[in-house]
Amino acid sequence: MRAVIAGAGIAGLVAARQLGLAGWQVDVLERGPGPREDGYMMDFFGPGVHAAQEIGLYDTLAAVAYRVVAAAYVDARGRETARLDYARFSRLAGGDVLSLLRPDMEEALRREAGLVPGVRLHYGVRASGVDEQSGRVFVNTGEPGHSFTADVLIGADGLHSAVRQAVFGPEQRYLRDLGMRAAAYIVHEPRLNELIGGRFLLTDSLGCTAACYGLRDGRVAALLVYRPAPGDPQQVRERLRARCAGLGELPDRLLALCPADPYDDVVAQVVMPRCVSGRTVLLGDAGGAVSLLAGQGGSLAVAGAARLAGLLGPLRQTERIPSALADFEQRWRPTVDSAQAAGRRAAANFLPQTRTRLLMRRWVLRAAGLPLVDRIIARQISAQIAR
Ligand SMILES: Cc1cc2nc3c(=O)[nH]c(=O)nc-3n(C[C@H](O)[C@H](O)[C@H](O)COP(=O)(O)OP(=O)(O)OC[C@H]3O[C@@H](n4cnc5c(N)ncnc54)[C@H](O)[C@@H]3O)c2cc1C
Repeated sequence: MRAVIAGAGIAGLVAARQLGLAGWQVDVLERGPGPREDGYMMDFFGPGVHAAQEIGLYDTLAAVAYRVVAAAYVDARGRETARLDYARFSRLAGGDVLSLLRPDMEEALRREAGLVPGVRLHYGVRASGVDEQSGRVFVNTGEPGHSFTADVLIGADGLHSAVRQAVFGPEQRYLRDLGMRAAAYIVHEPRLNELIGGRFLLTDSLGCTAACYGLRDGRVAALLVYRPAPGDPQQVRERLRARCAGLGELPDRLLALCPADPYDDVVAQVVMPRCVSGRTVLLGDAGGAVSLLAGQGGSLAVAGAARLAGLLGPLRQTERIPSALADFEQRWRPTVDSAQAAGRRAAANFLPQTRTRLLMRRWVLRAAGLPLVDRIIARQISAQIAR
């Protein structure tokens, strides 16, 4: 049995490892020239944690996780206006939250996938066209004579998936823009790192939220979420400075250190009526991005990949692939729908547009310290995870 996976991100690497362990031959195509070094910090909890435990990846991920002590909103002078201890967040999220830098997580998953016979990673290879004939899928790479053939194609190529475009149609049909953009980069700044300590800091501000984590070796991971406006500069760094300057000393320092062309993309969801067509299935963000505001995209990428590989892995006859894919789609859809609904709710509050909304959020965050509100949040989170 043979699979081609487009994308060596979180979903692609986990699916490759699991299918390889089940005895499949797997080619993973990654358009990037090599492993990614830049990225952002992710909270990893819920379905992904349970899946990682089940498939034996949890310890690998826990070994590269950061220990974050608290998430705190700060005002322009750097004073905390609200705080949530991570120990409590962990309890509310069902017991386990790993804080993982995306490149660290991918490196750990790549190591695991690389240990499995039958898994081959091809960097600098872009999936660009797909054709299916007589139960075989042909994946073109844009280079004449360089294509891959398989029994199943897994499109794990992220928010702007080329596989989705080729098989299901144009991006605008499925991408739901939540009206914000997010930029992320890592800088070396020991002084800020020390100031941040083990906290995840967010500015309590209008129009743009600047957030940061202290990393190992004096580095700082910066995240800026902002509402774009007509007439914004084209160049990313200039746009960030136009949108996010003046939020305080700490975010201004991060802006001063911003590279010219950091990661910057729309905050969006991918909403599709189906993620399977013939022998092609979309996995992770490609077929059901929930947005960074749901805080679960990486978690769902792991859980979805484990679920899909669990259904495909045991097959020994290619004719049974379509029913396994249909089964996956039916079982997985409710989890994605529920996380997307949570993402849309979070989007409504994440970036207040008026002072009244900002004050309301401040009040809710302060109230979150009270025992009753604590229980309500716990119920909401656990219901979300249970679904
Ligand atoms: C700023 C930010 C913060 C986030 N925070 C969190 C968080 O706290 N918790 C959480 O769970 N999630 C978080 N997420 C979401 C999470 O990062 C994604 O949901 C997750 O990475 C999706 O994994 P994936 O494997 O589906 O896609 P990706 O990680 O996007 O991987 C896709 C891969 O496919 C490759 N690719 C693209 N096109 C092609 C092609 N044509 N051919 C071959 N390869 C291709 C890409 O280079 C990439 O390596 C955050 C996202 C952002 C942007």
